[in-house]
Amino acid sequence: HLDRIAEVDGSVKAFLHVDAEGALAAARRVDEDVAAGNAPASPLAGVPLALKDVFTTEGVPTTCGSKMLEGWRPPYDATVTRRLKEAGVVILGKTNMDEFAMGSSTENSAYGPTRNPWDLDRIPGGSGGGSSASLAAFEAPLAIGTDTGGSIRQPGSVTGTVGVKPTYGGVSRYGLVAFSSSLDQAGPCARTVLDAALLHEIIAGHDPLDSTSVDAPVPPVVAAAREGANGDLTGVRVGVVTQFSGEGYQPGVLRSFEAAVAQLKQLGAEIVEVSCPSFDYALPAYYLIAPSEASSNLARFDAMRYGLRVGDDGTRSAEEVMSLTREAGFGAEVKRRIMIGTYALSSGYYDAYYGSAQKVRTLISRDFESAFATVDVLVSPTTPTTAFRIGERTGDPMAMYKADLCTIPANLAGNAAMSVPSGLSDEDGLPVGLQIMAPALQDHRMYRVAAAYE
Ligand code: GLN
Repeated sequence: HLDRIAEVDGSVKAFLHVDAEGALAAARRVDEDVAAGNAPASPLAGVPLALKDVFTTEGVPTTCGSKMLEGWRPPYDATVTRRLKEAGVVILGKTNMDEFAMGSSTENSAYGPTRNPWDLDRIPGGSGGGSSASLAAFEAPLAIGTDTGGSIRQPGSVTGTVGVKPTYGGVSRYGLVAFSSSLDQAGPCARTVLDAALLHEIIAGHDPLDSTSVDAPVPPVVAAAREGANGDLTGVRVGVVTQFSGEGYQPGVLRSFEAAVAQLKQLGAEIVEVSCPSFDYALPAYYLIAPSEASSNLARFDAMRYGLRVGDDGTRSAEEVMSLTREAGFGAEVKRRIMIGTYALSSGYYDAYYGSAQKVRTLISRDFESAFATVDVLVSPTTPTTAFRIGERTGDPMAMYKADLCTIPANLAGNAAMSVPSGLSDEDGLPVGLQIMAPALQDHRMYRVAAAYE
């Protein structure tokens, strides 16, 4: 895999940092362990993985795609990083992402865009474009992403790979640099559903270091993926969300979705149409809640604690240094989010904006609850279009935000959702993804359906 990275990453640019030495040392440890007659630490011991650069890695650079953290080497491992290491997974390096996970194309990285291996002129999705592109380019067989509004599922969809957002609280956020704490969720990226399930079980589980971590057994996702592989969905009720079609959806994506639903039916599933009217308000609610939380979380980048410090020449006050550093260290999209969030949280506007968005969030949770009273899983296209061209949406934030129309409701409600490859669009020959959503802590339901469909 290191050779493959050396061969193709000059054009794909999935990695921000390749830790060849660390990877080889980790691989050697697994070899020695096995040679000593010990059982492997996990089913994935010795398997290489690409880690999104939003997780802290002790002694290994962690930038979150931002100039603000250039050169920062964290003094500790995220819980996800630690669990991977304990399982003998070989971390190849850190993958490119939109700055602080804000974006849908990886074009907001301060270190330049990642390219989609299917067509190097197109985006690999975002914010975790580096992780999904590394899978599609065969640079790594496994990767980890984070999904606040779609950043695992949408890159999975446009690169033809599997991407899973577990139930909120299912995987620890300790050491995951925070964007929007009530929405952020780490999850597995892989080329097959079973690979994703195996990785899911390694990173999931209660963590006392994360106050929102769920103290409940890890959903049996590996067993469900194996069960689904028999291709029998008899007795499974699948709801088709009627809100996710129409204007803005490519006909090729909708045709692929119809074919996917027909296939699920053929596998024995019962197909039901389900209306979730509040989903129409998910995007505006998200773009108030996520920037509000981001404006608070990003206050920690004050030029004193981490990374970059600009203008500290002994003549300036701490406040001036902070201001110069934030001006130089944050990119345009991050600044836009901080300004929207600060405005939405201002006294006098709080109820009108943040308060209303929280009410919409409750309505979305209720829509999910009533849908899951009659169906086991919900399905939709993962994203309205296939991979767009690099530069196509950079001047139009609204067009960029619409990439997450179908993925955001699951983040707002906190339930589980994933994207599984659904063939190539008959319009442009590019990958399309099928989104499968399940109730909170019922992640195994979607794995079963995904494995049967795959
Ligand atoms: N594209 C969305 C945003 O820009 C979601 C990003 C994410 O899931 N991290 O906020």
